[in-house]
Amino acid sequence: MKNFQKIFGQVHEIEASAPGRVNLLGEHTDYNDGFVLPTAIPQRTRVQLGLSTDAQHHFYSADLDEQVTILDSNYTPSGFASYVFGCVRLLEKEGYTIPSINLHVSSSVPIGSGLSSSAALEVATLRGLRSLLDLPINDVHIAEIAQQAEIHYAGVQCGIMDQMASSLADTEHILFLDTRSLSTQVLPLPTGAEIVVIDSGVPRTLATSGYNERRSECEQAAHLLRVKALRDITDPQALKDLPDPLRRRARHVVTENNRVLEVIQGVSIQRFGELMNASHASLRDDYEVSVPALDILVAILQETSGVFGARLTGAGFGGATVALVEAGKGNAIAVDVLERYNNSGNLGRILVPLIS
Ligand code: ADP
Ligand code: MG
Repeated sequence: MKNFQKIFGQVHEIEASAPGRVNLLGEHTDYNDGFVLPTAIPQRTRVQLGLSTDAQHHFYSADLDEQVTILDSNYTPSGFASYVFGCVRLLEKEGYTIPSINLHVSSSVPIGSGLSSSAALEVATLRGLRSLLDLPINDVHIAEIAQQAEIHYAGVQCGIMDQMASSLADTEHILFLDTRSLSTQVLPLPTGAEIVVIDSGVPRTLATSGYNERRSECEQAAHLLRVKALRDITDPQALKDLPDPLRRRARHVVTENNRVLEVIQGVSIQRFGELMNASHASLRDDYEVSVPALDILVAILQETSGVFGARLTGAGFGGATVALVEAGKGNAIAVDVLERYNNSGNLGRILVPLIS
């Protein structure tokens, strides 16, 4: 890997980092004004910064081995530089003077696997700029700027969960986020538990069309129920007159929100695990965003000793699973589950814990 000195011919001045995230509970609830429960993963994105010796910003990603020079402030970069430049521009728009910088990125967060390498890149960049320039911005504001950078400069219509998780959570804590009010609570991860994330190896080909269809079904259901968003319904009984499949789609959202709210009241690890299992069943049967490979992987996890609960995580139609397992057993469980899953003709991959 080419280091800062090799790329920029100087030694970096400061360094900052931010983690990727995984959502433990609260899936497909964010666009219904609902509740989510992400935590940070051990993999982090690191940025190193120094002042540039010319009048231009230079950004380098060691992971892509790609360097981008920002020619002037009207320049609109594409790719990874758009996330970084978006952060710089938004700080300038808030009135801060940002000198020309050299920025080196390297990351252990899997890129494009649903663990939010994009938010980790934005939050690490903003933390780096905060420390280089002594900026008076707090962690919530960092998440807000990061989200705006992703929407307006990288062109990704995202909620704020990823950036809030990367900025406010760590691997020992879960972030409860109310996506309507943006109020948060940082809760400890249940004692005695750790997280296992395994990628199913199934590409998320139908994800965009499926996601848009579910969003529109939720909007239709909310409209028929005369509420602003499905978050406003708490009793699944209220859904009984909706036509199918809207009733089942809405039932997933309502029961999923209730599961998240139960967790923040304080539950045992066993109950937390049961709620994750129930979340998977609801995503599979009511929301219909699972695929056979994800069901197989989740079933193997759920029948494994030491696993409290498991479910698909992310939008579904492929992608990864998350499990809550007994602390200290994550490695052994992940290796054993992956072997059994891959023996059934799949090509899964362990993402968390990091196994050397
Ligand atoms: P995810 O956030 O789930 O990993 P996204 O598609 O939202 O997937 O973000 C991936 C994009 O973020 C990459 O295509 C790249 O532009 C940018 N990115 C993230 N991490 C890095 C990195 N370490 N180096 C360069 N680009 C990165
Ligand atoms: Mg992302």
